[in-house]
Amino acid sequence: MQLIDLKAQQNRLQPALNKRILSVLDQGNYIMGEEVFHLESRLADYVGTKHVITCANGTDALHISLMALDVKAHDIVITTAFSFFATAEVIRLVNATPYFVDIDERTFNMCPTSLSNAIKHIVESGQGKISAVISVDLFGLPADHVALQKICHQYNIPLVEDAAQGFGGRIGDARAGTFGEIATTSFFPAKPLGCYGDGGAIFTDNDRIAEMCRSIRSHGMGNHKYENVRIGMNSRLDTIQAAVLLEKLTIFDDECLTRSENASLYSDNLDKSYVTPTLPDGFFSSWAQFTLWNRNVSRSEITQALQRKNIPFAIYYPVPINEQKGMIGCRGHKTPTAHNMSKKVFSIPVHPYLTDDDKGLIIETLNECCR
Ligand SMILES: *Cc1c(COP(=O)(O)O)cnc(C)c1O
Repeated sequence: MQLIDLKAQQNRLQPALNKRILSVLDQGNYIMGEEVFHLESRLADYVGTKHVITCANGTDALHISLMALDVKAHDIVITTAFSFFATAEVIRLVNATPYFVDIDERTFNMCPTSLSNAIKHIVESGQGKISAVISVDLFGLPADHVALQKICHQYNIPLVEDAAQGFGGRIGDARAGTFGEIATTSFFPAKPLGCYGDGGAIFTDNDRIAEMCRSIRSHGMGNHKYENVRIGMNSRLDTIQAAVLLEKLTIFDDECLTRSENASLYSDNLDKSYVTPTLPDGFFSSWAQFTLWNRNVSRSEITQALQRKNIPFAIYYPVPINEQKGMIGCRGHKTPTAHNMSKKVFSIPVHPYLTDDDKGLIIETLNECCR
C-alpha cells in the first residue's frame, strides 16, 4: 500500500501518456512548447478564470504572485500558522513580514475571526501596511473564502489563495483557484493534480496582474525575449510536464470522486472517538489528504499500530510554521489551535487506487486502537 499510488495511476494512463511524452521529444520544444499553452487554456476552462500562468513550482507561483502584487520590503502579509512552510517562506523571500493567525479546529483552515482580529490589531496599533493575505486550502478543503473575502474587501487587502492542495475542490460551483485576487497551485507529484517533477500555476481574472506574472516568470520580459523591463525569475513549466498534466487531467474528476467516496467510507466506519474531516455545507474537498485525530488515544499509539500492519501514514504538519526555526522574527498572535492540532493529527491513504482490502485493513486497524 502507498500513501499516494503514482504507479497504479501511471498504469491506468498508459499508453496515451507515453504517446504525449514522445510527441514532445519528437518536436523538441522543451521550453514553452505548445503543450504549455494548451494546458494553460485547459486549466482556465476547468477552474473558470480568465488567465492561467504556469510556472516551475507552487512556491514560485506564490513568490511571483507577491511580486506581481508589489508587496514591498517590511510590508505585512498575513497567513495561517498551519500549512507547508512554503506558504510563509515566500513572504520572507520578498523581504516582507509574515504575520500568523490561527486556524479553525474543524477545518484546519484560516479562522476568519482570527484574521479579522489580527487586521484590527495591526491597523489600530499602526504596525505597518498589510499588503496581502494568503489563505490555504489545507488537505484539499477550500478555506472559508466567503468570510475571508468579505474581511479582505472591507480593508481593501488583496487575497492570495494557496490552492496547492486545493485544486479540484470547490464551494458550490466556484472552484478552488477562483477565490483570491490571485490563486496558485502546485503540480508536485503527490498533489491532487501532479506531474512527474516540479510544476505550478497562477490563476487570475485581472489582466494587469496576469501580464505581470507572465513577465516575471521569464526574467521580467517585455514585448520580446531580449527586452527586460523588470527583475523577474526563471520559472517556467517544462513542456514534458505540461504533456503529462494534459493526460492526467482526463481522469482528474474521476479520481477526485473516488477519493471522496473513500473519505466517506472512513468517516462512516471509523470509531466515533476519531475526529474525521468536517465538510461545511456546500464545500467539496479534493481530498489531497485524509487527516484525522483521536480524542482518547494518543497519536503515537495509533501510528505504531499502523506501522505494525505496514499501513503508510504521514504527519502534516508536526510543527506550525510560526514555531519553525526558519521563521524566527515572524509576528502574530499565539496560535493555540494550530499548535494543538500539530501534536494530534495524522493522515492516512485516501488515494483512488486503494483496494477494498486496503480500506478494510485501515478501518480495522484504526478501530482496534480504541478497544
Ligand atoms: C506543496 C505546497 C506548496 C509548494 O509547492 P511546491 O510545488 O512544492 O513548490 C505551497 N503551499 C502548500 C500549501 C503546499 O502544500
